[in-house]
Amino acid sequence: MIITRKGLVSSPMEQQLIEALRQVERLVVLTGAGMSTESGLPDFRSPSGLWRHHRPEELASVDALLHRPLLFYEFYRYRLELLEGVAPNPGHKALVELERQGRLQCIVTQNVDGLHTAAGSRNVLEIHGSLRKARCHTCGRPYPSEILKRPVTTLAEVPRCACGGPIRPGVVLFGEMLPEAPLRRAVEAVENCEALLVIGSSLQVYPAASLPEIALRRGARLWIINLAPTPFDRDADLVVAKKAGEVLAQIA
Ligand code: NAD
Repeated sequence: MIITRKGLVSSPMEQQLIEALRQVERLVVLTGAGMSTESGLPDFRSPSGLWRHHRPEELASVDALLHRPLLFYEFYRYRLELLEGVAPNPGHKALVELERQGRLQCIVTQNVDGLHTAAGSRNVLEIHGSLRKARCHTCGRPYPSEILKRPVTTLAEVPRCACGGPIRPGVVLFGEMLPEAPLRRAVEAVENCEALLVIGSSLQVYPAASLPEIALRRGARLWIINLAPTPFDRDADLVVAKKAGEVLAQIA
């Protein structure tokens, strides 16, 4: 154990990671819900992250949108309400600084909260879309996400497009393909990186979880900051099981 300048207890692995981040030249970062828990947004897979005991696959799915719309819209209304007043945390800000220094090539995020962009990061690939957007499920016409903040307690209150289709959040639902362009750019970035740093992802959701596989195959280094173990810990060069914001704040 090492005592850092701020008096925090730091493991040798954590110190190695901080040193590596100060020296890396072509870094790609992959973030998941754990990046935003220190901003006050719950994740899905921690014990405290579940919403009313439902599995995310049951709620955030095309099946729920079409067959259990009241539950679906209530869930997204709750998630939009959570976003109000939420701000980027020191972890988001540390990544802005790494990009400014020219070390961080891009952030690939599974998060739909828009907090990387709000913090000031420029090259952000939102491969699961954004909660800050909405569109018609049938024709794709865009709508402001405010529409989804209205309560939907009867089927007649389901927000509808001029074409009659239901208006839904601009996120990728379970049962849908990921948007092709950001995913392709993410793969290209990982294929050319020196190191991939995964932050706050259980690495259980594909195809995002395939990015560490690509990094390893290409001979890049794999670094992970995640509170819980992931299936990639054994293959990673550095694993730090601590709060991401607290670890990343030390780079500055
Ligand atoms: P996940 O919920 O499966 O895993 C989050 C991981 O982060 C867990 O393993 C947990 O131990 C870890 N974690 C929690 N707080 C942490 C912290 N402070 N520091 C380090 N690690 C921490 O999340 P996922 O892998 O992103 O996949 C779930 C899906 O959920 C994604 O598709 C994502 O779109 C969606 N989601 C997004 C948000 C968001 O946008 N903020 C929130 C919830 C879920």
